[in-house]
Amino acid sequence: MKAAISIDDARKNDDGVSSPEWLDELQTLTSSSRATDDFEQRLEHSRDRLPFGRFRHRSKQLTVGLPSAVVEPADIEEVTRVVKFANDHKLPIIPYGCGSGVLGGTVSLNDEIIVGLGRMDRLIEIDEINCVAHVEAGMNGGAFEAALIERGYTCGHYPQSLNMSTVGGWAACRGSGQSSSRYGNIENMIVGMKVVLPDGELLVVRHVPRRSVGPSLIEMFIGSEGTLGMIVELTLRIWRLPACEISHVVVFPSLQHGLDALRDVMQAEIRPAIVRLYDEAESLRWSNGKLAVETHPILCTLAFSGLQAVAEAEASAALGICEDQGALLVDDAPFRTWKKIRFESYSDEYVNSGGFYDTIEVAAPWSVLPGMYADIRATVIERYPAVQINAHWSHVYSDGACMYMTVKFPAMPDDDAFPIHADIWEIVTSMCLDMGGTTSHHHGIGYFRNKWFVEELNAGHGVISKLKETLDPHLILNPGKLGMRQGINP
Ligand SMILES: Cc1cc2nc3c(=O)[nH]c(=O)nc-3n(C[C@H](O)[C@H](O)[C@H](O)COP(=O)(O)OP(=O)(O)OC[C@H]3O[C@@H](n4cnc5c(N)ncnc54)[C@H](O)[C@@H]3O)c2cc1C
Repeated sequence: MKAAISIDDARKNDDGVSSPEWLDELQTLTSSSRATDDFEQRLEHSRDRLPFGRFRHRSKQLTVGLPSAVVEPADIEEVTRVVKFANDHKLPIIPYGCGSGVLGGTVSLNDEIIVGLGRMDRLIEIDEINCVAHVEAGMNGGAFEAALIERGYTCGHYPQSLNMSTVGGWAACRGSGQSSSRYGNIENMIVGMKVVLPDGELLVVRHVPRRSVGPSLIEMFIGSEGTLGMIVELTLRIWRLPACEISHVVVFPSLQHGLDALRDVMQAEIRPAIVRLYDEAESLRWSNGKLAVETHPILCTLAFSGLQAVAEAEASAALGICEDQGALLVDDAPFRTWKKIRFESYSDEYVNSGGFYDTIEVAAPWSVLPGMYADIRATVIERYPAVQINAHWSHVYSDGACMYMTVKFPAMPDDDAFPIHADIWEIVTSMCLDMGGTTSHHHGIGYFRNKWFVEELNAGHGVISKLKETLDPHLILNPGKLGMRQGINP
């Protein structure tokens, strides 16, 4: 681990240092000269919501380093100019949406220029005949959804970070929303894309419902985390607002019963709008500290939406499947509570009070999930009894699910806490890989997961690296992220 740099020292060292010689030229590339090397602006953009960075920030330290400048282009033309400029001068750049990534995707490692997309925030058009929306990549997710709702539509992508992320960021991180079992993940929604490539060329993938003309170019950029191109515009499928929502809360005699029920629901081709199955500790928390039924410690919320008749039929069929697994129907207060706070960050209070809080979301086939949960928890708790490690399952498929693990431990000096934190990541990730799972369901790689990227992809790592080096021979786009090399090719 690199030695931490104190923010106060960085500020002092910066005082009186002259601006980079290229800054004047960069300023001419955007309207209203939106390029700056102001220290506070660079500091603000030096980190994202990576928990490790939040711990360091709490101790007045940088996550890793500082960017050299921040630039905010207003349109595709300006993005193109900025990217060409960076390529010509071999200067590294980081595309920046809202900075809500939790793996350090926008964290500055090497004096990069931050390219903020926040000025590109327009909903360009809703095409009602084809039920798609054309949107600029820097549009805030919450603003996008609100604009759709106003016109009677929804995008169906509801990450917990809806209001603190951009539509481009959803694509770049291959995100997943709370209704993924009904609407799919972001890759199921994006049907058109404009991307500024590292040499400044604009790639336009027109919207069509599907194409069979080789590998998917859109898929190449979904999850590319700013390393292959600057996503500037997107076309997403949208949906008419559902006529109704039916919600139920059930409790199961055991986690295994709950997992089996969800598997059966998905394999029966039912598409719930919300599925949230909690382990014992999380169930207790969502039940306000008191089990609804002593013999049934596992809580699960289910919601169904759409046309009344369809939602009712799906709800009734799903409840029948849950009952077959011993479930009992209980009051739906936990669902109502969750709905009120579904777009809030739950970690703030704990982190602000000095504790250590992180989340690790893996995914695996149903056949290994129960064992994976039990073995990972047992290993972590045996090694670190003070650590609370729990999980819920809220993205489910016919063949498996995401296991979203929450890790908490109490306040202690960073020097003691960081090795524990790193070791827990190692335990969870390596055990998940060994058992046949994947290291990330929707948060992505950033720089924090680089270490496991090769093992995750095997020969695929070489394929992606070659693609990167072909498109971006000077490695200007977000170097050092997504398991890619950091060095700039001279
Ligand atoms: C409290 C909380 C809850 C969260 N819940 C969810 C969740 O439910 N589901 C989920 O999927 N994620 C979730 N996340 C993670 C994060 O919000 C998402 O990954 C989000 O999509 C990031 O969007 P952003 O605009 O903030 O991207 P940023 O953090 O700004 O950037 C993330 C990465 O994408 C790249 N990037 C951003 N915009 C572009 C672009 N236009 N072109 C090319 N590259 C780009 C950046 O370089 C970086 O590598 C959560 C995060 C927090 C803090």
